[in-house]
Amino acid sequence: MNPSKDAASFTESLLSWYRANARDLPWRADRAPYRVWLSEVMLQQTRATAVRPYFERFLREFPTILDLAEADEARLLKLWEGLGYYSRARNLQKAARAIMEKHAGQFPRDPREISALPGIGAYTAGAIASICFEEAVPAVDGNVLRVMARLTGDAAPADTPGQKRKVAETLRLLYPAEARGDFTQSLMELGALICLPGGAALCGVCPVRALCTALREDRVAKLPVKRAKKARKKEEKTVLILRCGDAIALRRRERKGLLAGLWELPNADGTLCEAEVLRLAQAWGLRPRSVGEREERKHVFTHIEWHMTCYRVDCETRDARFLWADARMLADEIALPSAFGKLL
Ligand code: SF4
Repeated sequence: MNPSKDAASFTESLLSWYRANARDLPWRADRAPYRVWLSEVMLQQTRATAVRPYFERFLREFPTILDLAEADEARLLKLWEGLGYYSRARNLQKAARAIMEKHAGQFPRDPREISALPGIGAYTAGAIASICFEEAVPAVDGNVLRVMARLTGDAAPADTPGQKRKVAETLRLLYPAEARGDFTQSLMELGALICLPGGAALCGVCPVRALCTALREDRVAKLPVKRAKKARKKEEKTVLILRCGDAIALRRRERKGLLAGLWELPNADGTLCEAEVLRLAQAWGLRPRSVGEREERKHVFTHIEWHMTCYRVDCETRDARFLWADARMLADEIALPSAFGKLL
């Protein structure tokens, strides 16, 4: 595709396909900025089908920006439980407070003011500005980078800030005078439904296949080109399910770093044997009665892998340095990151 020559036929084909085929998603029914913003933040690491119930529950509990600004943090994190990347939830609240304080509760329209809100990067700002306010501001994420690399046959590494800027500039030439919000969404939808990663692209039913350079040159599976990823760091941990009566012990993680400030199962670095686990529980002021069988689990974060050795330890006493949570508290009140939740 030649962006300056093919702009009109590209946008026309894409928009008419989108209008006939767009999925019926709850955040599309109403383009209020609060809803679009929330959906885009939730969708950053999660598929639309998984986001739907979270989105609906979140809006039931916090229907306005003011409700979010005033929300209890523990409740906010509980509603986020399972979505991961909890800093997104905290940033949503920070941004909601900034909107209340600096913009009198009205979501700002100016793309620069949108970008200045906590946790809102260029992609989310572009999505909100175009979908809610019909501005010609592109939203470039991995899906859009893939679609554009294939359409233009661009073999430059796609996952670099320079390439994102270049794609955004190209898209600015393509934005139609009207229906800019639909145009942003149609690109996202093409990446999500048709122009799929690797060899899975459904080129036979693609609405813009006549313009696609990668298809013409038989390079679809080779694009986009990605930089070699750094290997994830591996960390060994021993995680204890300390049980006393009907409760298990939890503690807070440090305020900085991975899973900052969230609840965790007590754990130690390295791989401990049963005798070391007993000594550790005693050092934590507990009287361990028995240690259950050892289990191995892995949890993968973006840059780190935890290789966890897990023991269940029955204790006779509780110690005040831990929060002792029963099943009801775990279900209703406490957000436990899935790295730990899956061990229970
Ligand atoms: S023709 Fe294939 S590779 Fe090209 S944009 Fe469509 S789905 Fe993607």
